[in-house]
Amino acid sequence: MTRSVIEICEGLATGEFSSVEITQDYLARIAQHNPALNCFISVTGELALEQARQADTVRAAGNAGALTGVPIAHKDLFCTDGVRTSCGSRILDNFIAPYDATVIEQFNQGGTVMLGKTNMDEFAMGSSNENSYYGSVANPWNLKHVPGGSSGGSAAAVAAGLAPAATGTDTGGSIRQPAAFCGVTGIKPTYGRVSRYGMVAFASSLDQGGPFARSAEDCALLLQTMAKFDPRDSTSSEQAVPDYSAGLGQGIEGLKIGLPKEYFADGLDSRIAGVIETAIDELRKLGAEIKEISLPNTGLSIPTYYVVAMAECSSNLSRFDGVRFGHRCENPVDLEDLYKRSRGEGFGAEVKRRILIGTYALSAGYYDAYYLKAQQLRRMIKDDFQSAFDSVDLILGPTTPEVAFEIGAKTDDPVSMYLQDIYTISLNLAGLPGMSLPVGFVDGLPVGMQLIGNYFDEAGLLAAAHSYQQVSDWHLQTPGLTS
Ligand code: GLN
Repeated sequence: MTRSVIEICEGLATGEFSSVEITQDYLARIAQHNPALNCFISVTGELALEQARQADTVRAAGNAGALTGVPIAHKDLFCTDGVRTSCGSRILDNFIAPYDATVIEQFNQGGTVMLGKTNMDEFAMGSSNENSYYGSVANPWNLKHVPGGSSGGSAAAVAAGLAPAATGTDTGGSIRQPAAFCGVTGIKPTYGRVSRYGMVAFASSLDQGGPFARSAEDCALLLQTMAKFDPRDSTSSEQAVPDYSAGLGQGIEGLKIGLPKEYFADGLDSRIAGVIETAIDELRKLGAEIKEISLPNTGLSIPTYYVVAMAECSSNLSRFDGVRFGHRCENPVDLEDLYKRSRGEGFGAEVKRRILIGTYALSAGYYDAYYLKAQQLRRMIKDDFQSAFDSVDLILGPTTPEVAFEIGAKTDDPVSMYLQDIYTISLNLAGLPGMSLPVGFVDGLPVGMQLIGNYFDEAGLLAAAHSYQQVSDWHLQTPGLTS
């Protein structure tokens, strides 16, 4: 069961199988492997079969679209009408959204089949999926290791063949880092490209949804469904959406690719550097021109991000007060007790840590020293990229400094966990698109290579990744799960 989305589309079109049949196959595989992997918080089998039946009817009537009948999993922070949206948190354990997120609506209109909602770090805060109220997710390549986070359930589900594709969100790396750890392909689009309406907010100026799949070709198809102007999201872009699949063939002959020297410095596992070097050689053979560049403020990106993201989350999460959404404590004596105990019981340790730090950074007297300063640094980080893009078309580097670590290895050391995102976080601060694709293995665990594009150049990223995937087979490797 390692069919790509494109193969499923072909099988459905030729009648090799129906949507109901392929959906049943995936549900059976989920039933078999999810107990060990814990990729799904909710499996929506009945709904999936109902949607599959409808898709088969639409197809029989000759009205099928590109993705009609294709099964897909959604990260559990996209609101789904009538289906629990937990965000990996106890506070939303009983929350059933009364509406669909725009992304879900677009997939529903496209006729896809929802297999279920995937596990994630609570409110998308984390790099290992160990912060979920529903337990950690196992990496399908080695069950003792983490799948990355925060979209760990989505990445692991695709890697293990429990879904051909899945949605995720990326605030500081949460699509690219788990894609790298699980050996799948994932793209974080330009900020504003995919609607945030109905995507539960972590840090609103950084959050962006995007797809996971086995290949760039599959990601192009999925992004086509996700990318759209949405008047319900005030930061949604009106920029026209190109045909991503049609653009895949543009190749990389003559493309100028920059390697930031700061991304290949201390802190990067030398074995990962070696794997990336080999991939770069392939790109050279395909005609790309490779040159060294500098992003001098790279070292500032982690502290800047953790001030901005925590400040924004402290504000966004104030809506979870025990009154309107989710968990409410038993027998509150007054309103303050209701707030305190509902939030105290509902949020996990990492979320509490961030609300506290964010509230501190925004408080009178500290706002200028922390939040304002972080916004200034954010501009400098963005300017670094803008000057780099004066001389190159794409930027390339590792996605992560190390491969997937063992479950529990970093849970007592938040700072070493935060350092996982050293190469991914600056893109969110700048609002740029980036993707991760598999390029090899270290210790039997996948290595991801990151491609970074200029604003709205998702097509360029997908085309470059596709060219590489035409001459390599890392994206076709699958973990040796029993059967
Ligand atoms: N690991 C980062 C964090 O914990 C990024 C998470 C994300 O992209 N949602 O904030």
